[in-house]
Amino acid sequence: MAGNWKLHKTPAETRAFVRELGNRLVGMEYGSEVVVCPPSVSLETAVDAARGTGVAVGAQNVFWETSGAFTGETSSEMLESVGASHVIIGHSERRHVFGETNEEVGRKLRKVLAGRLVPIVCVGELLEERESGRTEEVVGEQIRTAFMETAPDHAPRLIVAYEPVWAIGTGRTATPEMANDVHALIRRLLGDMLGRSPADEIRILYGGSVKPDNASGLMAQSEIDGVLVGGASLSAESFAAIVGAAG
Ligand code: PEP
Repeated sequence: MAGNWKLHKTPAETRAFVRELGNRLVGMEYGSEVVVCPPSVSLETAVDAARGTGVAVGAQNVFWETSGAFTGETSSEMLESVGASHVIIGHSERRHVFGETNEEVGRKLRKVLAGRLVPIVCVGELLEERESGRTEEVVGEQIRTAFMETAPDHAPRLIVAYEPVWAIGTGRTATPEMANDVHALIRRLLGDMLGRSPADEIRILYGGSVKPDNASGLMAQSEIDGVLVGGASLSAESFAAIVGAAG
């Protein structure tokens, strides 16, 4: 269960949120790993506030170099040094607002896998791509380019998030069956590249307008291992409800 806060929450707001989430999770029955992904300026505060709660902290982006003349970028070593354990790579806003390409997503993934962070690699088609029957082609290309040089022994660490772009922040969710079909496709593609049993170990999350009232229907699908939540992860109450609904 991962929460992507996007460009929301100062360090002070982050501390309050993580404390509240930790309190809400105490005594709740859930079997999932819970990760919050604040803006980079709030990472260290989130790590500090999350101590003892079981909540992990992830970054929303990373660069493929370690250091150098790359104004505005953050390296995987830097993220590790402040205690982040996860990182989102290739979120649809990075791709569509900032022009990130499949090749750049692949470079970022290779760099992250050379270190210790757990990558959450996002893929997903635009509305016009789905409507013109190109979902398989688009998602296939995203997966093949990102994982081109990934070794099968990285599989237990890998997380993929299928986020149809038309469902992100729109209130329009893919039906559980639609999402499950694309998850099955992603696992099949990863199986072709890494081998069947490594691909079975990769966790595939669904993202796109997940809310407390649709999380359990999505999680009931055989190929959906978790969810990546944007808007509904900004309130500790609704994010904890999603963790609870997912079981
Ligand atoms: C996201 O930002 O990854 C996302 C899925 O957003 P939302 O839940 O708001 O659709």
